[in-house]
Amino acid sequence: MKKLLFLLIFLPITLFAQKPQNIILIIGDGMGFAQTSLMSTLTGPSSNLEQFPIIGISKTQSASNYVTDSGAGGTAIACGVKTFNGAIGVGKDSIKVKSMLEIAAEKGYSTGIVVTCRINHATPADFTAHEVDRNSYDAIAKDQVNSPIDLMIGGGEKYFAPMINQMKQKGFEIKTTKDYTGPSYFKSLPTTYPKVAIFVSDMDAEQANKGRGDMLPNATEYALKYLSSKAKGFFIMIEGSQIDWAGHNNDKEYLSAELKDFNKTVGAALDFAKKNGNTLVIITADHETGGLTLNDIDLSNGKEQLDVGFSSKEHTGCWVPVFAFGLGAEKFSGIYQNTDIFKKIIELYK
Ligand code: MG
Ligand code: ZN
Repeated sequence: MKKLLFLLIFLPITLFAQKPQNIILIIGDGMGFAQTSLMSTLTGPSSNLEQFPIIGISKTQSASNYVTDSGAGGTAIACGVKTFNGAIGVGKDSIKVKSMLEIAAEKGYSTGIVVTCRINHATPADFTAHEVDRNSYDAIAKDQVNSPIDLMIGGGEKYFAPMINQMKQKGFEIKTTKDYTGPSYFKSLPTTYPKVAIFVSDMDAEQANKGRGDMLPNATEYALKYLSSKAKGFFIMIEGSQIDWAGHNNDKEYLSAELKDFNKTVGAALDFAKKNGNTLVIITADHETGGLTLNDIDLSNGKEQLDVGFSSKEHTGCWVPVFAFGLGAEKFSGIYQNTDIFKKIIELYK
């Protein structure tokens, strides 16, 4: 009798506990600890990262290099394998490996990606394509059209234009807009499309400090509304793609704008997760970019004086943070390989 009672009480808890219905993965490309420190300093009391109760550390080395590129770094997160720099969703033997987005779709989740680069750029490609070379933009776009994805928002229209009819046949509603920066564009879009692709640019979206407006947070809000209107639950990867580019350019104004934009995007995801109560939000990075150093920051009198230094125009090999909020978040504390992010997320699928 005692045994039966034990089974009745604890079996359901161990089987069903702590598995979220929805998983939101937000990647800051090139966002190391210095970038997250700067983000928090710039956003002060509205720092959304500081609302995350669980913090972990991810080691970013690839199979081929101490310093990873975004292809291998994203593949490690998306597919759970260490691979060579430049790889997209393939292992070091160049053989295809299923991504967490593809596995989610097989399990009946709705899936999406929202980015500020072209949709077929390395990071989103790692979740939705399988190619040995990240520069195979046409092949990657083709893979993505044939992937099980339900929602894509980002740039890269010119790569998808030759496949518009094929996309329509697959059920995609296709929007091409250069008018995405205002607050109303995404708010007015219906969520009833079977699938939706929104191209905000031929190539990449604008820089955050050059007219992109609130595209990323607004697109994120729309994507979460869209995906949560579907049946089972969802997996989405959202990327602050250009934090990396600001780092490569050693451009502090660009970096500052991208980080504030990222903070707003995280805020949109947190708002959703708090209201929904059945969602896990993970924030991480594929690597650090620029070797950023914060020497002095003065935000008094409404001015932004940033005395920051960069020691590199490239990526660096240091640890990057992982922030977790919501159901299943406690799995993400500790120090682990980037490939473990894949394993931890997959274990949380229902
Ligand atoms: Mg990227
Ligand atoms: Zn980069």
